[in-house]
Amino acid sequence: MPARKAPDTALPRNSATTTLFAFAVGLLVIAVVLFGCIGVISQELKSSLGLFMQEIAEVESASVNAVIEDKLSVLHGASAFVVAENIEDSDSLIEHFREMVDSGAFMRVGLVNSEGDGIGYDSRIGVLPENNYADRAYVQAALDGKNYVSEPLEDSWEGEPGIVFAVPVYDVKHRGGDPIGVLVGTLSVAAFSDTIDASLFEGHGHIDIINSEGTILFRSTGENAYGGTDAIGQDDIQARSFEQMKEDLAGGWKGSTTVTGDDGSSRFIVYQPIGINDWFIDVVLPSDYLEAKNRTVLLASIVMAVFIACTAIVLMAVVFRTKNRSEKALAHAALEDDLTGIDNALAFDSKFNARSDLFDGKHSLVLFNLVGFSLYNTIFGYEKGSSLIKSVAEILTRSLGRAELLARLTGDRFLMLIRTETLDETQSRLLSLLDSIDSAIGSDETHYQIVSQCCAYRLSTADEEKDVNLIAQDMAIPFRQTKSHAGKRIIFYDEQNVACAMRARHIEGIMSTALLKEEFVAYFQPQYDIRGDRPVLCGAEALVRWNSPVLGLVRPDEFIPIFEKNGFVDRVDRYMLERACIRLRQWMDAGLRCVPVSVNLSRQNLFSADLIGRIEKIVDAYGIPHSFIKLELTESIVAESTVQLVETASKLRQRGFKVAMDDFGTGYSALSILKDVPFDTIKLDRAFFGESIDSERGRTTLTGVIRLLDALGFETVAEGIESESEAVQLKAWGCHVIQGFVFDRPVPADEFTKKHLEPAQDDLA
Ligand code: C2E
Ligand code: MG
Ligand code: MG
Repeated sequence: MPARKAPDTALPRNSATTTLFAFAVGLLVIAVVLFGCIGVISQELKSSLGLFMQEIAEVESASVNAVIEDKLSVLHGASAFVVAENIEDSDSLIEHFREMVDSGAFMRVGLVNSEGDGIGYDSRIGVLPENNYADRAYVQAALDGKNYVSEPLEDSWEGEPGIVFAVPVYDVKHRGGDPIGVLVGTLSVAAFSDTIDASLFEGHGHIDIINSEGTILFRSTGENAYGGTDAIGQDDIQARSFEQMKEDLAGGWKGSTTVTGDDGSSRFIVYQPIGINDWFIDVVLPSDYLEAKNRTVLLASIVMAVFIACTAIVLMAVVFRTKNRSEKALAHAALEDDLTGIDNALAFDSKFNARSDLFDGKHSLVLFNLVGFSLYNTIFGYEKGSSLIKSVAEILTRSLGRAELLARLTGDRFLMLIRTETLDETQSRLLSLLDSIDSAIGSDETHYQIVSQCCAYRLSTADEEKDVNLIAQDMAIPFRQTKSHAGKRIIFYDEQNVACAMRARHIEGIMSTALLKEEFVAYFQPQYDIRGDRPVLCGAEALVRWNSPVLGLVRPDEFIPIFEKNGFVDRVDRYMLERACIRLRQWMDAGLRCVPVSVNLSRQNLFSADLIGRIEKIVDAYGIPHSFIKLELTESIVAESTVQLVETASKLRQRGFKVAMDDFGTGYSALSILKDVPFDTIKLDRAFFGESIDSERGRTTLTGVIRLLDALGFETVAEGIESESEAVQLKAWGCHVIQGFVFDRPVPADEFTKKHLEPAQDDLA
């Protein structure tokens, strides 16, 4: 068995899948961004820390410079005193040096003359024994006129290693001459190292002063100073191939590098020259500390990112859930009939398509229709109409068996799927259902007679691939074929109907082209006035025929209901009016005795905006006097829209057209309506005579109606009269005009011209 198409309720599922997919993609994007960010953050941290260390190096370099400048300027100040006092007065000099040492400016201060002999005072030793210092580099440099700052030197008096500051001393009285001596100040390495900032990175880092060969000269000390063992000492730097650093140091450039010590620990070093000797400041930070800091920040970033991702996931889940719920609600609303709460066509279609067990010859589709419902709705209002529909829905719902379906399609149309073993069972079940509906809706206070009707169709394997909506549409066709199905409560929709429906669809497919190709032809049927001694031609009815090269000659009974349903009838009616005018023009031009021609107007026309204007335009185009055109409106329109009809008929008559009520006696209108309608002619339908003509009561009714119509001033036309005896009878009852096979069938225009517009025949004579 071929699979039927998936039900439409699958729609929300598709949308849920899309949401899930978007959800997954969203998560993936978050993960990628997260990892991307971690790399970037780590890189950023490293470079900003490098910059920070660079700044520390610059600040420290300035501070070391300031300390050295300070020490040198203290010595310069003292040199002025040395010269001003008697340079030979060693006692007063020693006293002055002692004061300087006591002030803490230096550990030791002394004066060396140009021969290298020196005196001095030391905080530990006191007055130094006389000694010759001529071989000392700082003495030679100062005697050459330069300020001098030494690297750490061993103490010649077995004291602490120190850093020596030396400045030249000039004889102020003999300006411009060579230095007469050297003033020397010594500071212990420890004291000098104390001036370097110790509180670096919570004691994890330290600062060195190194020379261009990488020898560490001084290192920051103090409470917060780096307390760990420094595996990278002078040897390390020199022994390892820190090529870039070595190059930088040799060239006096600043830079940074990472070095690994013997114990495997690595350090991040930033260095820069300080402008004194070949000295550099280097700021050293263990990579472990850097990585630990990095890790902390990264961890914080990851925690934050995970938190954001979790929030996003929770939010998305909430959105997804809400969306899912509203989609379900929407889907539910889209599948429910607003008024009755039962399934609508979409839901029926969906459920029907999901079933594969319906084509076993035991399932039937049943379409319900309420005859007269639209009029009931018009007369008693929408609210009453709605409550009537609701009670029908309730009755039908109650009758539903297990796995049977029910839906309200539109208005008063309900579609049901039932399961029965035999056709007899179907019939009896539907009859009792129709009875229940009729007794329920017939018992309301309006006493308006609405009759329920249904069309049943037994499904077979041939329907497996068919669209249930199209089947239901076809099942509605018999409801419109009132002439052939009037009064039937259950119509069994069979193969013949199916064939009809197929043909109807074919007709719809080719109708427009057919009209353009003028395949529609006007036939004319004569109307004879029977009041005189012999019948006299008094009119003709233009009746459409479709001479289709594909379908053959198609009768209006077949295609007019289809055209009425799809609105095409409007164009056919205008076409027929024009055909009638063309013929009248020819007859007039040929000097023949013309009679008014009746043209049928479908109910559709009644609601078109400019009906009168359009009719006038066509008729006037051929110069036809308006009194030669009679427009026929069927009785059923009277019942459906009396106000509209009266208005249209009045306007047409005001413009000189004639108006006829067609098919009187086939609808449900009461005779009382006749006093309101402004018609010239009433056409009694053949069905009106039918069997009545044979019974006494029937004959009495007929004669009564004909007399009534005559008394109200209508022209009475008896339609469909086939035998002469009927014609004679009608004449006797006072009927004015006869249209029927007794005079002629509808014939092509040329034939009509030849047969009926020639000198009048005396058929009844
Ligand atoms: P109608 O307007 O009531 O037309 C009269 C119908 O009775 C015609 O059927 C005609 O052929 C038939 N008839 C006339 N005399 C006799 C008779 O002695 N015995 C029998 N058995 N029938 C007779 P026709 O031409 O098949 O038209 C059927 C209906 O189609 C028309 O009924 C009319 O309602 C509709 N129709 C025809 N042409 C047009 C048109 O141009 N526009 C519209 N809107 N409807 C049209
Ligand atoms: Mg007619
Ligand atoms: Mg008629």
